[in-house]
Amino acid sequence: MMNHELKDQVTKALRDVSYPGMSRDIVSFGFVRSLEVDDAGRVEVVLEMSTHNPEAAEQVRREAALAAAGVEGVEAVNVALEMQRPARPARTQQAAMSQAVDLVPGVKHIVAVASGKGGVGKSTVASNLAVRLAHMGKKVGLLDADIYGPSLPTMFGITEKPQLDGETLLPFERYGVKVMSLGFILEIDTPVIWRGPMVVKALEQLLGDVRWGDLDLLIIDLPPGTGDAQLTLTQRVPLAAAVIVTTPQDVALIDARKGLAMFRKVNVPVAGIVENMSGLCCPHCGEVTHIFKSGGGERTAEVLGTDFLGSIPLDPAVVDSGDTGEPIVERDRKGVHAEAFGVVAQGVLDALTKHSRPKLTIV
Ligand code: ADP
Repeated sequence: MMNHELKDQVTKALRDVSYPGMSRDIVSFGFVRSLEVDDAGRVEVVLEMSTHNPEAAEQVRREAALAAAGVEGVEAVNVALEMQRPARPARTQQAAMSQAVDLVPGVKHIVAVASGKGGVGKSTVASNLAVRLAHMGKKVGLLDADIYGPSLPTMFGITEKPQLDGETLLPFERYGVKVMSLGFILEIDTPVIWRGPMVVKALEQLLGDVRWGDLDLLIIDLPPGTGDAQLTLTQRVPLAAAVIVTTPQDVALIDARKGLAMFRKVNVPVAGIVENMSGLCCPHCGEVTHIFKSGGGERTAEVLGTDFLGSIPLDPAVVDSGDTGEPIVERDRKGVHAEAFGVVAQGVLDALTKHSRPKLTIV
């Protein structure tokens, strides 16, 4: 085998290795600083990691060595590890990410729900998606990071303040979902003018100081838009995937495109697009009438080169259920919305398996 072919094979094998607790592999993460293969099949890898967790780094080193050694044609492997304590305040993206991973060690995947602009139903989608995933047997948490209008407390009918156990905040548990919101912590009606770093700080606190326990998925309801705060969040929180919520109008394409570009810039896989408020669902017969052009979300996904996760019909019952603290998929577990969110939830789960490679077992 040619040298460069062997190098490609080894790189491919390294893509099966991920940092403990993370779904993204070490190659896409930028942990592999150099990789050399000589004519005798000897492989030299240098991994560079900024982490507070030397055991995790050592585990990655061993897994990388095993993965490289498993490639046909490889005769010897040496994997060197260069550790750096994460530098502050100018932390690198991966340093911040591995720190954030250490913050929520029991969480398998963090999934962001985002939108290019406000009012498209991002929070509605995030909460119904979370409850639907819980119905499907997943252990789910939901973190409302929408600083501009935290709405999850209302959507889950939570009026009290969260309890503290020592230094740890206890999340609320509603409909099988562990819920925490910046809204529980901010004073009601406080005008919130937050810059990116403040949002990130608050979010890191919510990630680290809340007793999430073991979760399959932690859904984060991001603030709408693609500004500085959102970009910083996507860089600093170890996201396994992002879901972009849009509405059927043509103009929404522009916003969805911005959202997609933001995640691609920071290498977060986009699970796909959800089209919300697509078609009016008749409150009497359940039939869906398309007010805007139908298939807009699908076209948007196609144009943007991402997957279409499904569409959610427009229905006054959604507003009502949001206002009364019982998400629509909970209120009517067999209704059109439960079905529609079921499709979206399955799409997200599929995307997570597609993007995250199986972890190697260490012997
Ligand atoms: P965002 O988080 O994008 O600002 P919200 O989830 O708060 O949006 O939704 C904005 C408003 O639209 C809320 O009143 C919500 O109840 C309503 N809404 C969201 N999705 C639907 C839907 N599919 N049908 C009807 N109303 C909806």
